[in-house]
Amino acid sequence: MDNRDTLIEVRNLKKFFTIGDNTLKAVNDISFEIKRGETLGVVGESGCGKSTAGRTLLRLYDATEGDVLFEGKSIMNLNNQEMKAMRRNMQMIFQDPYASLNPRMTVGDIIGEALDIHNLASGQKRKERIQELLSLVSLNPEHMNRFPHEFSGGQRQRIGIARALAVEPKFIVCDEPISALDVSVQAQVVNLLEQLQEKMGLTYMFIAHDLSMVKYISDRVAVMYLGKMVELAESDALYEKPLHPYTQALLSAIPIPDPEIERNRERIVLQGDVPSPMNPPSGCHFRTRCPKAMPECAASVPQWKEIEPGHFAACHLYN
Ligand code: SF4
Repeated sequence: MDNRDTLIEVRNLKKFFTIGDNTLKAVNDISFEIKRGETLGVVGESGCGKSTAGRTLLRLYDATEGDVLFEGKSIMNLNNQEMKAMRRNMQMIFQDPYASLNPRMTVGDIIGEALDIHNLASGQKRKERIQELLSLVSLNPEHMNRFPHEFSGGQRQRIGIARALAVEPKFIVCDEPISALDVSVQAQVVNLLEQLQEKMGLTYMFIAHDLSMVKYISDRVAVMYLGKMVELAESDALYEKPLHPYTQALLSAIPIPDPEIERNRERIVLQGDVPSPMNPPSGCHFRTRCPKAMPECAASVPQWKEIEPGHFAACHLYN
């Protein structure tokens, strides 16, 4: 992994929203890299800022502060024309395949629209490219004139994937791409994304709300809580030796298939709800639910540190 070059670099990224007199710090100073060909899983409960981070990274939202570099070049100050060209490199697959496809457009036109925006093909070539993309995601190319409602949920997500692939991107933010699907089809979509990654050298940021979903697809996993990244490590290291009490609690909630281990394992039940992101606790945002909280956790924000090689966390236990 270390030999791969860096495709995406995120530096001190912040995205705040003003709501009335309040400021919602949806993404509050996160920094990380994604290597070329890597899948970085990003996990956290709803409202933790993971989807906002994905959107800000693609400049679907303008960042409040910070920088995002693609192949070493900042995308933050690109003008509209330059950003349009950059969008060919960076695409998104959305959570809800029902809502993200225009019900009045045929599948051929949904995929073709992406080709049109970037003038990639016209006439017979356009049709052949659409059919090629449908085959790539294991859909019948003959069905290009059908409408989204004529497909199942899993098939609609494949259409969303084909649309993203139409412009031959290098990087895709997958925003909870399987959460809205039946469990029976989730594995098929994950397998498809993995096959496509292998075939096309894609790099993914894979956003999910629970750790079990990203375990198999991710090379590394980041955990977010109330707008902050609290831990980031290679998948094996994170699952075998989580350092942050929040990650430890999330992992302890995943059932283990072995009944013997399942019976004896210790579960960490978090107290209370996630606090409002409008008014997060002082110091460590997790302190109101943390079983290991100490007085200093209220007084100061824990620094993001590399605790072991490649294993980062923000927690006063490691200061
Ligand atoms: Fe818990 Fe303190 Fe670490 Fe926050 S900094 S996770 S409250 S021990």
